Amino acid sequence: THEHFDAIVVGAGPSGNAAAYTMAQRGLKVLQIERGEYAGSKNVQGAILYSDALEKIIPDFRDEAPLERHVIEQRIWMMDDAGHTGMHHRSDDYNEDRPNRYTIIRAQFDKWFNRCVREIGVTVLFETTVTSLITDENKRVIGVQTDRDGNGIFADVVVLAEGVNGLVGQRSGLRRELRPEDVALAVKEMHFLPQEVIDARFNLKGEEGVVIEAMGTITDGMVGTAFLYTNRESISVGVGCLVSEFAKSGEATPHGILDRFKNHPSIKALLEGSEIKEYAAHLIPEGGFRAVPELVGDGWIVVGDAGHFVNAVHREGSNLAMTTGRLAGEVVANILGSCMTCTRDNLQTYVRQLEDSFVMKDMKKYKNVPRMLEQGGRHIMDLYPRLLNRSAQTWFRVDGKDKKSKESDILRSARQARGLTGLLGDAFKLARAWR
Ligand code: FAD
Repeated sequence: THEHFDAIVVGAGPSGNAAAYTMAQRGLKVLQIERGEYAGSKNVQGAILYSDALEKIIPDFRDEAPLERHVIEQRIWMMDDAGHTGMHHRSDDYNEDRPNRYTIIRAQFDKWFNRCVREIGVTVLFETTVTSLITDENKRVIGVQTDRDGNGIFADVVVLAEGVNGLVGQRSGLRRELRPEDVALAVKEMHFLPQEVIDARFNLKGEEGVVIEAMGTITDGMVGTAFLYTNRESISVGVGCLVSEFAKSGEATPHGILDRFKNHPSIKALLEGSEIKEYAAHLIPEGGFRAVPELVGDGWIVVGDAGHFVNAVHREGSNLAMTTGRLAGEVVANILGSCMTCTRDNLQTYVRQLEDSFVMKDMKKYKNVPRMLEQGGRHIMDLYPRLLNRSAQTWFRVDGKDKKSKESDILRSARQARGLTGLLGDAFKLARAWR
């Protein structure tokens, strides 16, 4: 006879940790399996943590979690080769008792979160890879096969929190292969600098932090974005572009784009003199709502990146991962707690709850964005940032020209660059994608 669990969770990222914690808290016997040496060992990046999603799982996480800085300023930049035009939002209101967003180092954060998971009673197997799902004669999932235990491990339900690749689900025929148009390849580096230097360069004190999100000519016309996050004693810098765009370009490399961003005149001085310590590459699911796979079936349920839950427009992923993990955990605990089985029908409650939450509402709101970028990406990433920066120069240079003529110059150069119908068409597409 084999040891039987109520639930097996595949993966110890934010979604798997949220699901495992939630189920154990409600009394279920949970096994979590992680291929890495420890939780977070595969996740070196610095990132933004959104408090709300974690607070709903561990209300007093601020007392113990390894947090870097709380975000008080957001900069959004449209870059051309020489500079940027942007929007900055900064407020002292973010210096609140329970800050809303933090920068974190994922390796440390995931490790801490997983310690909480173990402390609440979950059994965790590290350095173990789930290779496939075990099904019964009715195709119901009843357990997992790993690269360790030849006999398999059995449970009432398997929570697939395996991240963007979704290989276990794919191999078991629960989902199709990822399309290159639906994933971004992101690379990032950690640049170490003394805390005082970061504070001075970004006008910060105490534990305040700044986030820069940038797009424009740095990605060479490919659909992608760049970012810079201030940690306590390091700065995370990275770029990501759709895999399909790299394929189309043929010559652009993630590392080449990152170098371009780091050497951009608007960024270079911020990183001056830093010591680079980590380099990491990872995929981000960016296909949006239309790329969300089947989420539940008999004996299985999908959470986090494996379910394609990322809001690329707002750079949110870990919060969707934790929210989907928590909701899946609650639904499973309710089903098993009422002595029912985790059939597809019963697990549908999870899908309905997602639809009532910000998760699906936001995914649906931006469902046309990937298509818009597929069609008009080059203009959005290259032509408009150039136009915007040129217009800003026309406007701000004082050169004896009257302001009315400057306005006409700006309008004329926009019309020349894209044509009136092109401009109106783009505005229409943007409005439709934003709805
Ligand atoms: P993951 O974190 O990928 O965890 C999956 C886990 O499963 C991994 O630990 C993996 O080792 C394990 N695993 C996979 N397959 C198996 C298997 N077969 N057997 C056993 N274990 C397995 N989100 C934000 O909210 N804010 C940000 O600032 C942000 N920045 C990002 C920057 C970059 C460069 C990238 C790549 C992503 C960023 N994201 C950000 C997105 C965020 O990282 C993800 O949405 C989030 O990590 C998803 O969590 P997850 O638990 O679903 O998947």
